[in-house]
Amino acid sequence: MKLASKTSQKVAFGRPTLKTTAHAQQRIPTREGQPPLDEYYNSLFTTFGPQHWWPGESQFEVIVGAILTQNTSWANVAQAVENLRGQHLLSPAAMEQVPLGRLEELIRPSGYFRQKARKLKAFCEFLRAEYRGSLKRMFGTPTISLRGKLLDVFGIGPETADSILLYAGEHPVFVVDAYTKRMLERHGWAGEKAKYEDVRWMVERQFPGDAERFNELHALIVKTGKHFCRSREPLCGECPLGRYLEEGR
Ligand code: SF4
Repeated sequence: MKLASKTSQKVAFGRPTLKTTAHAQQRIPTREGQPPLDEYYNSLFTTFGPQHWWPGESQFEVIVGAILTQNTSWANVAQAVENLRGQHLLSPAAMEQVPLGRLEELIRPSGYFRQKARKLKAFCEFLRAEYRGSLKRMFGTPTISLRGKLLDVFGIGPETADSILLYAGEHPVFVVDAYTKRMLERHGWAGEKAKYEDVRWMVERQFPGDAERFNELHALIVKTGKHFCRSREPLCGECPLGRYLEEGR
């Protein structure tokens, strides 16, 4: 499957621009004009191993998590999901029927709970109206078509749509998040103002693969971001990707 893509000049392809680090002696030449994502992937996988994403006991729970995780930490999401589980609301039909105010209270730990309750309701309504409430039917829809439909649902933006497609539906799309953009930007592969679709397209083009590979790559990048590629003072000297910087920070 190949997703629709577009060429953009907003993604800067070129040589890394960071300064020299201890990893400079182990420098690995990069393919001109392309991020060596296969090599990044292999280094990260060797270091961290499989990440077993995404946590969730059902497809619907993964979807709920993908919506609730917007602008908050996973610990807060987990609390909200447990509240829903305790009330037997982790099914589309049950969630659509529960009063909005009750839903808001249950997901309060995830923050922005009023908006998120409306988003969850909107997804459930969409699922019923378009697919008679069947996730199997929904995920049987071709990726490009389903992605477009999801993006039309209230509260579902590109990152959430791709998380639903990849982690709940095993559709082969790459999820771009802040960690991905930061890493690619620091390695000189994405411009500071690169847009979501540009970065997604670049990764899918340079790292062709199936859902399993996209799943693992994204999870490994998040792991790297949390442990090494922090927004301030990244630990390039200890990072498995440090040797890929032509010049270090
Ligand atoms: S911390 Fe790792 S991923 Fe981030 S810029 Fe440094 S080497 Fe690259």
